[in-house]
Amino acid sequence: MTATRVLVLNSGSSSVKYQLLDMRDSSRLAVGLVERIGEETSRLKHTPLTGGGEERELNEPIADHEAALKAVSAELTADGLGLDSPDLAAIGHRVVHGGLKFTAPTVVTDEVLAEIQRLVPVAPLHNPANITGIRTAQALRPDLPQVAVFDTAFHTTMPESAARYAIDVATADEHRVRRYGFHGTSHAYVSRETAKLLGKAPEDVNVIVLHLGNGASASAVRGGRCVETSMGLTPLEGLVMGTRSGDVDPAVVFHLARVGGMSVDEVDTLLNKKSGLVGLCGDNDMREIRRRVDEGDEAASLAFDIYIHRLKKYIGAYYAVLGRVDAVAFTAGVGENAAPVREAAVAGLEELGLAVDGELNAVRSDEARLISPEYARVAVAVVPTDEELEIAQQTYALVARFGDPS
Ligand code: ADP
Repeated sequence: MTATRVLVLNSGSSSVKYQLLDMRDSSRLAVGLVERIGEETSRLKHTPLTGGGEERELNEPIADHEAALKAVSAELTADGLGLDSPDLAAIGHRVVHGGLKFTAPTVVTDEVLAEIQRLVPVAPLHNPANITGIRTAQALRPDLPQVAVFDTAFHTTMPESAARYAIDVATADEHRVRRYGFHGTSHAYVSRETAKLLGKAPEDVNVIVLHLGNGASASAVRGGRCVETSMGLTPLEGLVMGTRSGDVDPAVVFHLARVGGMSVDEVDTLLNKKSGLVGLCGDNDMREIRRRVDEGDEAASLAFDIYIHRLKKYIGAYYAVLGRVDAVAFTAGVGENAAPVREAAVAGLEELGLAVDGELNAVRSDEARLISPEYARVAVAVVPTDEELEIAQQTYALVARFGDPS
């Protein structure tokens, strides 16, 4: 294939993140972000990564996604990387919810868009923005393949025993209530990179991936296939996150409605936006929480302990699900950077073959690395995630296959 570039778009309700990659060597040609779309204070930050260009900022109102993509296109054109270039092979879109239908990256057609639209009730915050992003990109380059890469796809291999909630089957099916999982591109990428780090094929390793960002999820990956993950119907279930509660007794919702007089939307906001670390101690940045812990702040210490307790429960549960674990991999903002979280999460798990070497754990690096001591039966790894690269690779692999006449 002569066209080797892929534009990756991650469209949120008021933002668009983008990266332009050259798939010959997976290098980045430009990266950027449009924020606060539709507001007076919109901002475009663009960084060309070839030709020695400098980061540029555009501070002017950007009315909608179409205007945002046009502004991005103008910035890329100024760097000689215009979207009209014949070198552009495809545009890869992050789509949050692919339901059960989309088990792999998919070239967008009208039917595909209609199906992503049908999933809006289970992803009301994300899928509409993803659809807008795709439509806008289609209008800009109607001739180009647009590929949807789904956050849920990697988790569609979960067995029914893990994916089903134990609720009335007819009701669940009618409303598509089941566990879908999210962060799939990250779990896929990190589990594969972990196998690489161990010098093994993904088929030969069982990995527990801990994606700890502002949103956080764990997954159990057996031989390259996901068998369990901690997020469910929505990204609310599972680990303690920056602003989300993770697991709570569902009756908490009824209680807050009946006794607390809160509406469904109020409880939704409480559990998604005002809970987790921020609800427990007022901060959701792990750096700030650790600083406060070191100063002896009680609320921050309790928040940290609750965060770690939940994480440890999931490590234990996924160990049992997998039976044999070759590696535990930490990734995303907290997982890649917060040594105290990694240390505390596996502390006391020596009987399970898990341990962290203090010196290795303290090293700061952008590289995938092992932090367990030589003698440990289970590898503990820090593996930086790269969701954009994964989306670009999946997109390019798909269009390369399509473009191959054999
Ligand atoms: P998301 O993509 O979910 O927004 P990220 O994966 O970028 O999140 O993670 C962001 C979080 O990572 C921050 O909220 C902060 O808690 C944590 N983080 C980032 N850098 C560090 C660091 N040096 N030490 C500890 N935590 C960090």
